[in-house]
Amino acid sequence: MANVPEYFGSLVFDDRVMKANLSAPVYQSLKKTIDEGAQLDLSVANAVAIAMKDWAVAHGATHYTHWFQPLTGITAEKHDSFISPSPDGGVIMEFSGKELIKGEPDASSFPNGGLRATFEARGYTAWDPTSYAFIKGKTLCIPTAFCSYGGQALDKKTPLLRSMEALNKQALRILRLFGNDTAKCVRSSVGPEQEYFLITKEMYDQRPDLRFTGRTLFGAKPPKGQEMDDHYFGVIKPRVEAFMEDLNDQLWKLGILAKTEHNEVAPAQHELAPIYTTTNIATDQNQLTMEIMQKVAAKHGLVCLLHEKPFAGVNGSGKHNNWSIATDSGQNLLSPGETPYENAQFLLFLCAVIKAVDDYQDLLRLSVATAGNDHRLGANEAPPAVVSIFVGDELGAVLEAIETGTPYKGAEKTQMTLGVDVLPKFNRDTTDRNRTSPFAFTGNKFEFRMLGSSNSIACANIMLNAAVAESLRIYANRLEQAEDFETTLNSMIRKTIKDHKNIIFNGNGYDESWIREATEKRGLLNYRTTPDCMPHLMDKKNVEMLTAHGVYSEDELRSRCDIMLENYCKTVVIEGNTMVDMAKTQIIPAVETYAADVARSGAAKKALDPTLACSYEAGLVKKLSEFTDSAAMRTRELEEALARLKVAEDVVGESILIRDTVLPAMEHLRKVCDEAETLTARSYWPFPTYGDLLFSVR
Ligand code: ADP
Ligand code: MG
Repeated sequence: MANVPEYFGSLVFDDRVMKANLSAPVYQSLKKTIDEGAQLDLSVANAVAIAMKDWAVAHGATHYTHWFQPLTGITAEKHDSFISPSPDGGVIMEFSGKELIKGEPDASSFPNGGLRATFEARGYTAWDPTSYAFIKGKTLCIPTAFCSYGGQALDKKTPLLRSMEALNKQALRILRLFGNDTAKCVRSSVGPEQEYFLITKEMYDQRPDLRFTGRTLFGAKPPKGQEMDDHYFGVIKPRVEAFMEDLNDQLWKLGILAKTEHNEVAPAQHELAPIYTTTNIATDQNQLTMEIMQKVAAKHGLVCLLHEKPFAGVNGSGKHNNWSIATDSGQNLLSPGETPYENAQFLLFLCAVIKAVDDYQDLLRLSVATAGNDHRLGANEAPPAVVSIFVGDELGAVLEAIETGTPYKGAEKTQMTLGVDVLPKFNRDTTDRNRTSPFAFTGNKFEFRMLGSSNSIACANIMLNAAVAESLRIYANRLEQAEDFETTLNSMIRKTIKDHKNIIFNGNGYDESWIREATEKRGLLNYRTTPDCMPHLMDKKNVEMLTAHGVYSEDELRSRCDIMLENYCKTVVIEGNTMVDMAKTQIIPAVETYAADVARSGAAKKALDPTLACSYEAGLVKKLSEFTDSAAMRTRELEEALARLKVAEDVVGESILIRDTVLPAMEHLRKVCDEAETLTARSYWPFPTYGDLLFSVR
C-alpha cells in the first residue's frame, strides 16, 4: 500500500485534479463559482463534465450519480452509466455539462411533506460545485441539491447552503463595521465527532429488533456493563483495529480527514473524529463516513450500529458538532484576539451566539429530535433536553465584569484602553472542559453535543447558522446607524449579556437540580421528546426568522415538521410491531418450553421418589407461568395501543398518542421479558443476550 499522502484524496475530483485536468480559463471560472458563488456557464460545465468523466473512467468508474440527501436523513443515489451507442455498434463513454449540472431522478417516493404534487413526481437535482465529486465503487458521485420544479427544497443540503449564505451576509456586515474590507466571505466550519457500536454480524442476524429497528428492544442488563470505565480510551481490540485501519484507508481515499479514533465509554462503543472543514462539506463527508463505516464493518463480519440507543442501561451514541466561523483568509471569528479591539469583535460574535442559542433554544432542540435521540437526551449520559451554554470560568468572569461594569481582574495582562474599556484582553481558556453541557465554548469553537449519532448534521447547523445570522443582523442594523460605534458596541454587548445570562450555565448538566433551576428559576425550555418540540418549528417567531433569512419558506418548514413527526411515528410503530412479534413468536414460546421442561423434570423426579419436595421446580414453574401470563397481557396491551393510533386525526395527534401510550406499553412489555430472561436457562433463550452482543468483538 502506498503511503497516505500519496493516496489521500485519490478518489476525489479535488482542486489538484481540477488544476491538472482543466484549461486555465475553465479552472479559473469554476474556482470563482466555488469560492464566490458566481454563476457557472454551460461551456464551462461541459468542459468540467468531460474532464470529470475522463478522470472517473480512468479510475474505473462506469456510472455516475447525482448524490443527494433527501429528507429521510440518509443519502440517495440513482446510477446512470456513461455509455452511449456509437454508429459502429460499440459504445463510447459520454457525460455532458447538462448532465453534470442537473439530474432528474424519479424520486416520487421520497418523503416531501406535501411539497410536491403527486402529478409532479419528479424533483430535480442540482450540482453543488462547492463539494467535490468523488468515486464510490464504480460510480462517480456528484454532490447535489434536490428541489421540486416549484423551487422548493426537498433535501437538507439546500437549506444548509442557504443558512451558510445568510450567516456569510450578516457576518460580513459586522466585519465591515470593524474596518475589515478585505474578507470576501465568512463560512461556518464543523468537525463532527461520530460515535458508534460494533458487534458481530453473526449475533446481529439473530436479533430481529436490531435488524428491523437498529436497536435492542429487549435485553436484561449483563453482569458487566460500563461500570468499570475500562473501555474508554482502552486498548483497541485487534478486530476493531483492523476495521479502523480499513475505514481510514477508505475515508482518506475519499479525501475525508479522519483523524482521531478511540474506544468510548460503553463496551463495543467507539468514536471517530475528522479534522473540521466547511460545514456543507463536513455534512456530505459525515453522511459518507456513516455509509462507509457500515460497509467496512460488513467486510469484517461486523455490524456498525449508528442508532442513538442500541442498548438500554448502556451509554448511547451521539455526535459532537464542533462549530466555528471564519473568514476566507482563515481568521477564526470565535477566537479571542490579541488586542482589545480584536477582542471587542470576538465578544460581539460570542454574544451573537449566546443570544442566538437563547432566542432559538427550541430550534436547536428540535433540530436533533428523533425517536432514537429521545432515549438519550436527559438520560444521564448525554446532555439534558434543556439547552444551555458553558463558557468556562475565565470567559464567565469577563462577561460578568462587562455586565456589571466592574474592571476585570482575571488575567495578568488586563488592558483597559481604547474606549472599549470594558472589553479586556484575556487568555484563551482551555482548562475547564465541561462534558455535561449541551453547548460548550471550547476556546475557539462551540461544541453542540445534543446531536444523535445517526442524525444528519445538516439540521443542527442550519438552525445554528440561521439563528446566529439573526443576532448579527440585529447588531449590524444598530451599529450601522450608530452615532458613536464604540459606545453602541459596548452597550449592545452589555445588554446581550444582561438579557441572556440565563442561558449560561457552567455547572453539572446531568444534575437533577439543574433541570429544576433551569425550568423553574431561569425559564429555559425543557422539551423532553420529539412530539413536545417538533410542532414549535411552526411558532411565529421561528417561521419569521427562518423565512426572513431565506433559509426556508413557510411551506418547506411545514413539510419538515410533518416529515419529522411522521418519521418519529413510523419508527416507534415499527419498534412496537417488532416487540409484539418477538414476544409472541420467540420470547413467550421459549419461556413456555422451558417451563414445560422444568415441570416435566420435576414430575419425573417426583415419580421416581414421591418424598422429594421439588420445590425449586415448582417455584420456578409458577414464576415462569406468571411471567407468560403477564407477558401475554402486556403484548395485548401494546397491540391495542398500536391499533388505537388509527383514531389520531393528524400526525401531531399520533405522535402524542405514541409518546403517551405506545412507548409506555413497550416499556412494560420489555420489563417482564427482561425479567424472564434472568429466569430462563440460557440454552432456551431465543437470541443473543446483552452480554453476548456487547462483548462479542474480540
Ligand atoms: P474533543 O476533546 O472534544 O474530542 P478535539 O479537540 O479532539 O475535541 O476536537 C474535536 C473536533 O473539533 C475535531 O473534529 C476538530 O477538528 C474540531 N475543531 C477544532 N477546531 C475547530 C474549529 N475552529 N471549528 C470547528 N471545528 C473545530
Ligand atoms: Mg468532543
